[in-house]
Amino acid sequence: MKKSTPNSTFSFSKIYCSLFGHDYVLSKHVTHHIKEYTCSHCGEQATTNSRGRLEVLTPKLKEINNALEQVHAKKAARKETKTTPFQAAS
Ligand SMILES: [Zn+2]
Repeated sequence: MKKSTPNSTFSFSKIYCSLFGHDYVLSKHVTHHIKEYTCSHCGEQATTNSRGRLEVLTPKLKEINNALEQVHAKKAARKETKTTPFQAAS
């Protein structure tokens, strides 16, 4: 099975997006501040960058997001189990 992006055909969606802008819908919750979005018209992906603005999701950004997600998941898991033997004095 081929799993490439469906960009082989010139679609009306692309024209629509270039005219009216992308219609991004939330596709992935990476951290509290970083989320990934996919355009419901053309399927283009975007992510929130460190400044909280939308940016086209490049393979490199996707990699960063995946790493962030893993770190975040580990932190969340640690918080939930509450098995930390020592806590930093506050
Ligand atoms: Zn679009």
